[in-house]
Amino acid sequence: MTKPLVAISLSHARGRSYAVFGLARSGIATARALVAGGAQVSCWDDGAASREVAANEGLPLVDLTTADWSEFQSLVLAPGVPLTHPVPHWTVEKAKAAGVEIIGDIELFFRERAIVCPEATVVAITGTNGKSTTTALITHILREAGRDVAMGGNIGVGVLALPPPAKDRIHLLELSSFQIDLTPMLNPSVGVLLNITPDHLDRHGSMENYAAIKARIVETSNAAVIGTSDGYCRAILARREAAHPDTSDITDDSRAQTAEHIRGVPSLRGAHNVENAAFAFEVCRILQIENVRTAMKTFPGLAHRMEQIGRVGRALVINDSKATNADSTEKALASFPQDIFWIAGGVQKEGGIAPLSPYFDRVSKVYLVGTSSPEFAATLDGKLPYEDCQTLGAAIAAAVRDAAASSAAEPVVLLSPACASYDQYKSFEHRGDHFRALVQALPGFSK
Ligand code: ADP
Repeated sequence: MTKPLVAISLSHARGRSYAVFGLARSGIATARALVAGGAQVSCWDDGAASREVAANEGLPLVDLTTADWSEFQSLVLAPGVPLTHPVPHWTVEKAKAAGVEIIGDIELFFRERAIVCPEATVVAITGTNGKSTTTALITHILREAGRDVAMGGNIGVGVLALPPPAKDRIHLLELSSFQIDLTPMLNPSVGVLLNITPDHLDRHGSMENYAAIKARIVETSNAAVIGTSDGYCRAILARREAAHPDTSDITDDSRAQTAEHIRGVPSLRGAHNVENAAFAFEVCRILQIENVRTAMKTFPGLAHRMEQIGRVGRALVINDSKATNADSTEKALASFPQDIFWIAGGVQKEGGIAPLSPYFDRVSKVYLVGTSSPEFAATLDGKLPYEDCQTLGAAIAAAVRDAAASSAAEPVVLLSPACASYDQYKSFEHRGDHFRALVQALPGFSK
C-alpha cells in the first residue's frame, strides 16, 4: 500500500471558522484537513506539550480560554474530552454559551463524503469488545480481495489522515462511543454493532445512555449487522428489524459455521473470535466479497491480543497484554483447554481474579507480577500453585522452565495479566512489547 501524499482536504469547510480542541493524533490530523480545505482554524489544548506539537506543525494556535467564541461555527472536540460526564469540559460550556455546534473528526468525514462522493462505501464498527479485531480482520479480507481499503478512526490513524472517500475505495472505521456521540450525521453504508456490556459508565452516565449512543451506528446505516449476545443489542436489533427486515444478525447457526471455517487459525483462537469472525463473514457477504474463508486463514492478528509470539521448546507463548481486566483474561483462559502456565498481575481491577476460578482447572501454575501479587496470591491459595515473580523477566523464566519440565505435549505460556500495567509500564502495549522482546531473546525460541 502506498501512502497518499495528501490526506483528506475538507473542501466543505472552506470559509468557515473552527475551534479545534485536543491536539493528540486525531486533533492534529483534523486541524491539517481543515487548513487544507481552506477553513479558518483555531487550535488549542490544555497541555503545553501538545500545543508545541501543533505549533511545530505550523498549525494556528489560539488561546480558546480567552478567544471570542462568537466567531466560531463549530467546535471540533477530540473524543477523549468529556462532553457530558463526569462534567462537561470548559470548551463544551463555552461552545454551548456561544451557540457553537460541537462535533468530532468523524462528523467532518461524513460531511465531506456527502459532498464529494456520497456513494463511497463506509463500514463503521462499534461495540464494547472486539472492535479492533473485527475491523482489522475485515480490512485484511478486503485487501486480500484486492480492494482499495482505508482503515482508521479508533484504530491506527485518525479518519482525516486517511485517503478521501472515493467510488472504488472502502473505508473501514472503528468507532468508540465517544466518537459516535460527536457524529450527528453518522450514516455508514454498513453499520456494525458487536456487543454492549458495561464500560466507561463514568463517561456516559448510565448503561441506557451508553447503549443509546452505540445504537446510533445502525439507526441510519444502509445495511446493518447486529450482535445477539446481550439484551441491549437484541433490543436494538428488534427495533431496526421492525423498519428494515433485511437487517443481519449473528445466529447460533452462523457461529457454528464460522467456528468450522476458522478452526486452527492461530490468530482467531477462542469463542470471542468466532463471534468477531462471524461479523466479518456477514459484512463481507453484504459487500459481495469472494474467497473470504481463504483470506481469514492468513489473518496475522493484532499485537497484544492473544498474539502468538512463537515457541520456546514445546511451549507455545502467547502475549495477551491487552487483557487489563478479568473479563478479557477469561476469554484467553477459555481459549486453551489445559496446561496453561499463566503470567498475571499488575494494577488490579475491582474483584481481581476471583471471577476466573471456573477456569483454574486449565491452569498448571500462576506466575505473579506487579503490585496485585498479595491479593492474587490470597485468591489462589489452596486452589492453584503460584510463584511470586515480581517482574515479567522472572515470570517468563519460571514459566518456561516449568513448561519444559511438564509432561504436557503443548504447554502454553500465557501473559494475560487481568490488570492494568501502569505500576511497571507506560501502557499495555509497552508491557506486551517488553514481553515479546524477552521471549524472543530466550534460548530455544522459534517463530
Ligand atoms: P476493542 O477494540 O473493542 O477493545 P479488541 O479487538 O482489541 O477490542 O479486543 C480486546 C479484548 O476484548 C480481547 O483481548 C478479548 O479479551 C476481548 N474480546 C474481543 N472480541 C470480543 C467479543 N466479540 N466479545 C467479547 N469480548 C471480546
